[in-house]
Amino acid sequence: MNTVITTPKNRPDPRDVSKDDSMLKQKEMMARHFDRITSAPERGEKVCATFVPGNLNELIMCFDFANNLPEVNAIQNGLRKKSGQFVMEAEKLGHSEDVCTYVKSDIGMMAKGNIAPNGEKFPDPDVLLLSYTGCFTFLKWFELLREQYQCETILLHTPYEGDGKITDNMRQYMVKQLKEEVIPKLERVSGVKFDIDRLRENLRRSAKAEDDLVYVLQTAKKRPSPIDAYFGGIYYIGPIFGAYRGTDEAIDYYATLRQEIDARMAAGLGPVTPEGAMGEEKYRLVTEGPPNYTSFRDFWKMFYDEGAVVVASSYTKVGGVYDFGFRHDPDRPLETLAEYCLGVYTNRSLPQRVDMLVDYINEYEADGLLINSIKSCNSFSAGQLLMMREVEKRTGKPAAFIESDLVDPRYFSAANIKNRLESYFQMVDQKKAGGALKGAAA
Ligand code: SF4
Repeated sequence: MNTVITTPKNRPDPRDVSKDDSMLKQKEMMARHFDRITSAPERGEKVCATFVPGNLNELIMCFDFANNLPEVNAIQNGLRKKSGQFVMEAEKLGHSEDVCTYVKSDIGMMAKGNIAPNGEKFPDPDVLLLSYTGCFTFLKWFELLREQYQCETILLHTPYEGDGKITDNMRQYMVKQLKEEVIPKLERVSGVKFDIDRLRENLRRSAKAEDDLVYVLQTAKKRPSPIDAYFGGIYYIGPIFGAYRGTDEAIDYYATLRQEIDARMAAGLGPVTPEGAMGEEKYRLVTEGPPNYTSFRDFWKMFYDEGAVVVASSYTKVGGVYDFGFRHDPDRPLETLAEYCLGVYTNRSLPQRVDMLVDYINEYEADGLLINSIKSCNSFSAGQLLMMREVEKRTGKPAAFIESDLVDPRYFSAANIKNRLESYFQMVDQKKAGGALKGAAA
């Protein structure tokens, strides 16, 4: 750990007193990511825009594109408290209140000059690679961008895992699209010839980083958990869900992270929060749904102040589910890309999602499930109440439901959420006390 020594003169935000090496590394990687995109035209590099679920970064790298991910931009604008004005700008342009706020943040940002977090202008993309994995909004979003940029658009269609299985037909259907549509078009736009050995190398690097990510996420099975798999987990998934999967930098980041978490575990420490190490672990939770980004720290604080740690979350699987064994496989380069897209959380059926949440509660010995339902994410809010009841029934653990939004600050009501969380923690206490009484009577 690298502790920042402060003096009254240079004292930063009091919540920012300690940063792990992995956090510093990631901050620097994020800065380089934006610099690479914004300086792409002057370096003669082309830009590919694509989404996090179904992100084919290993393939995109084969054509020397800079990879610009619109949800990452919306999240960064949310964390920097800029997304509110962008969302309202998009509404002024006619986008309805119900539209996903990632989309409106993106559209509003474009309308306001398309300025990246580094203060430079985002270049127009040369290609929009829509790897469709279950959310219809992605199709509409890229239709809007295509209208704006008039650039080449490529669709890779991923069949929905309705029956909870990947069949050979599905895999072959996707491989065919990769061979006949996606790769030839990426070659044409980039002017770079596809080299399958280069893809294999990228995939090999991905698998190495994925091993370490899974190791880190699974340390939450320990008591106390050395990580928070939701609030902290969002940082942990950054490189692998974004433009770094398949690079040596990602391998290095996850190796560093793993060492840090090992050290925390050996010392019996809980997760690092924005205010330092977390105190006593009182509640172990599983979460479903994304967090709110505009009040991210306030939201997190409501948990760690109560001693609540998230031991597993479905949100940290939207860009790839690795903890049930999937790894990118360099020996089956196109098939593995297909399987990756087929298996991301957004492409899984409701019963599969329920199974995952039940597994998490049992495997991580959690006290219950908490759903943060996102007002403007119609794709994934549908079915959450049903999921909640089913998980309660199968695990006997209490579940609760809170509501907020991704990057629209108008839909984060701190008082409401805090009240609900407090009642939920009381419910968990009662359930635990009931269990203890039963145990004593037996
Ligand atoms: S999954 Fe939800 S948050 Fe993501 S693009 Fe679709 S609607 Fe928006």
